[in-house]
Amino acid sequence: MKHELKYCPRCNGSFECKVGSVVLCQCSTVKLSQEERNFINDKYEDCLCAACMEALRDEYNREKFQLRLKKIGYGF
Ligand SMILES: [Zn+2]
Ligand SMILES: [Zn+2]
Repeated sequence: MKHELKYCPRCNGSFECKVGSVVLCQCSTVKLSQEERNFINDKYEDCLCAACMEALRDEYNREKFQLRLKKIGYGF
C-alpha cells in the first residue's frame, strides 16, 4: 500500500495522507463540523496534520465566540 507523504502547510511537519481512502486519512480522524471544515478550507487548500486541524478548530471556535460577544455589545 502506498501512501502519499505530505507536508502540513501550517507547521511543515510531514504526515501521511491516504489518498483515495478518505476514511483512513488522518484528516478524517479529527471530528469537524461542516462550519469548522469550511473555515479550515478557507485558509488551507490541502489537508493539514491532525494537530493543526485541532488547533484551527479551536481557533475557529474562539473567533466565533468573540464575534458573538461583539454582537451583544461586549468585546473590543
Ligand atoms: Zn501541522
Ligand atoms: Zn488527507
